[in-house]
Amino acid sequence: MTTTTIAENLAEVKARIAAEATAAGRDPARVRLVAVSKTHPAEVVEQALATGHRLFGENRVQEAAAKWPGLRARYPGVELHLIGPLQSNKAREAIALFDVIQSLDRPKLAEALVRLRDEGLSLPRLLVQVNTGCEPQKAGVLPAEADAFLARCAGEWNLPVAGLMCIPPVEQEPSPHFALLRTIAERHGLSELSMGMSDDYPVAAAFGATMVRVGSAIFGVRG
Ligand SMILES: *Cc1c(COP(=O)(O)O)cnc(C)c1O
Repeated sequence: MTTTTIAENLAEVKARIAAEATAAGRDPARVRLVAVSKTHPAEVVEQALATGHRLFGENRVQEAAAKWPGLRARYPGVELHLIGPLQSNKAREAIALFDVIQSLDRPKLAEALVRLRDEGLSLPRLLVQVNTGCEPQKAGVLPAEADAFLARCAGEWNLPVAGLMCIPPVEQEPSPHFALLRTIAERHGLSELSMGMSDDYPVAAAFGATMVRVGSAIFGVRG
């Protein structure tokens, strides 16, 4: 893929987000694009950075550690989000690399983050991942357990949660999942909703997403 193509893809996705948000009566500036650069090498990611885009998502700590310190040094102002599952034994490395962790999904990880904070380290912003489709193979707290988990974050752990993230089941209509995520967020006064990927980000933008996470529509199919 050429520089022009990635730049064009980014512009097209941004225009589509703005159009969908506007059509739904939302402020388009309230929907940010997280460009998902997982599996793509630094040279490819640079083509997106060269356009001025600074918000990116990666799903693995190891890959981000190999790729992003160098890119950050050359492109100031990067905001990097962890969008994949985080093992608690990698939490220390993750908080040093990421500005936002979108995949807080269980007590063990919350407790690991609390211990790091107790050491004096500052934590990234946090989103709680909700498994809206109750899929056994997928990470995230179950919808029925989300209220209790969010209450423990706020109370027992004193962890500030900025919002929620979900990945709807691939074979289903995404809108009920987006609506469910929004309902849970509203119940807890949470403002950030990370939902929508290459196939469904326009729907998510209409349903209240404040962040959409788009990979292949920008960078092409992953190898
Ligand atoms: C890979 C990934 C994306 C982007 O997926 P595309 O379909 O390539 O846009 C978004 N969110 C998460 C959690 C991912 O792992």
